[in-house]
Amino acid sequence: MTIIRSSIPEFEFSVPVVVVGAGACGLTAALAASDRGAEVIVLERDKRPWGSTSMSLGAICAVNTQSQRENGIHDSIDTFVADVMAKTEGEADEALARRIGERSGPTINWLSAKQGVPLQVDFKWTGLGHSVPRLHLPPGRTGEELLSLLLNACARAGVEIMTEAQVTAVYADDDDRVLGVRIQRPGGVVENLGCEALVLATCGYGGNHEMVARHIPEMAGARYFGHEGNRGDGILWGQALGAAVREMSAYQGLGTLAEPQQIVVPHPLMIEGGFLVNIEGRRFTHELANISGMCVPVLAQPQGIAWVVFDEARHQGCLEHSTDQRQLEEVGAIRRADSWEALERACNLPVGSLEKENADIEAVRASGASDRFGRCFDPRARPLRAPFCAIRVTGALFHTQGGLLIDENARVLRENGQPLPNLYAGGGAARSISGSRVTGYLPAVGLCMAVTLGALAGADAARLTAHSPTTG
Ligand SMILES: Cc1cc2nc3c(=O)[nH]c(=O)nc-3n(C[C@H](O)[C@H](O)[C@H](O)COP(=O)(O)OP(=O)(O)OC[C@H]3O[C@@H](n4cnc5c(N)ncnc54)[C@H](O)[C@@H]3O)c2cc1C
Repeated sequence: MTIIRSSIPEFEFSVPVVVVGAGACGLTAALAASDRGAEVIVLERDKRPWGSTSMSLGAICAVNTQSQRENGIHDSIDTFVADVMAKTEGEADEALARRIGERSGPTINWLSAKQGVPLQVDFKWTGLGHSVPRLHLPPGRTGEELLSLLLNACARAGVEIMTEAQVTAVYADDDDRVLGVRIQRPGGVVENLGCEALVLATCGYGGNHEMVARHIPEMAGARYFGHEGNRGDGILWGQALGAAVREMSAYQGLGTLAEPQQIVVPHPLMIEGGFLVNIEGRRFTHELANISGMCVPVLAQPQGIAWVVFDEARHQGCLEHSTDQRQLEEVGAIRRADSWEALERACNLPVGSLEKENADIEAVRASGASDRFGRCFDPRARPLRAPFCAIRVTGALFHTQGGLLIDENARVLRENGQPLPNLYAGGGAARSISGSRVTGYLPAVGLCMAVTLGALAGADAARLTAHSPTTG
């Protein structure tokens, strides 16, 4: 990745804080910098900002928020840190988890109260590693809406967002101080922009097949279902400037991407009693043990295919709160039948297979014990009843979790722990708190790291540039 240290151009234009990437991280960073009085610009390669943020569910985990308090939820930073450490089996950086625990709540409160990005705690996504409800969603419950709200907030704050502006190189001096960036504009036009601080919000490297093969060989052949433009640019620039990286093998996966429709099947279908079978009609995993990690057992099944099995009542309940479920219905991804036998035929599954798995679940439910995978079925929940439904799914890579080593203010660090002079990273460009494996991803940590580190980076970049001499 290009770092240019000689023939530094005379920068005709300079902006104190330059942010690369207009996803949740970049836009939050820009809002935070602007809030502190810094002039800031966001550079985005796409014509229309989209990013993995728009593809997401828009759920952000956060601790001790106003919305949690209003709903009588007692959360604590210690509980969050314990949840992170349990999920990652002790692998996550505890100090970073604590910092995120401390700052995520104030960030959500600030976005909601001051920036017009309303985020409310959600009760549908419970458990799955969080001890208390702490996932926060925008009213429309989509990542697309989250991004629109952030873009509107930037417009109100007067933050300039330059689209069709792909950063292709970083200018730096011999001390690794960033001096500016080179931007590729439409029609082959190249522009140079000077800066005093650079925030890398370019997300991870899921769209860079060579990097995925190197760092996550188990997903080299799997589908990448994040934003294609996320090719690891920020991570590679950081490394080329002398920064350290951590946990590059970590990632967020999913085992329930509708195939071939490519729509995420909402997990509440399974939280509320649905189950998974492979194409031989056999269950093969604890469906709630690990959402992210489930991509591995799903991809290990024959043809890498499974079926999510549920019933009409669960479908109707899910329709109310899930755009994905509505889309699955609209595109005809849901197979329905009035009996198990008819559903088996509709899904080309062995005769008797679904009926047997369901009977086994009911026996386990009645006994109050856990099943052969360690899953307990709520004795108060209603058994699945006809009409029965199923959706064909596969596993996919959503989002990489390794990235640049950062300090408590999202400043990028060298291996010896010293910060680079004026470089920040957040969201998918920075290391996360997911440990080194797919199973360490706690639901909604991706956007939590995007907005929390974005807010920290933007605020500190504003502080740094307020005290540094102006360039250009
Ligand atoms: C289907 C799906 C569902 C998900 N659901 C959730 C969820 O509900 N909750 C959660 O916490 N996480 C979720 N995630 C993960 C979440 O989307 C990411 O963690 C988050 O969006 C990362 O934000 P970001 O700002 O770092 O990256 P992005 O939103 O991807 O933004 C990065 C931007 O940088 C731009 N860019 C890259 N390189 C350059 C360059 N050289 N020059 C200029 N611009 C560049 C890209 O075009 C992109 O717009 C989901 C992911 C997927 C794929």
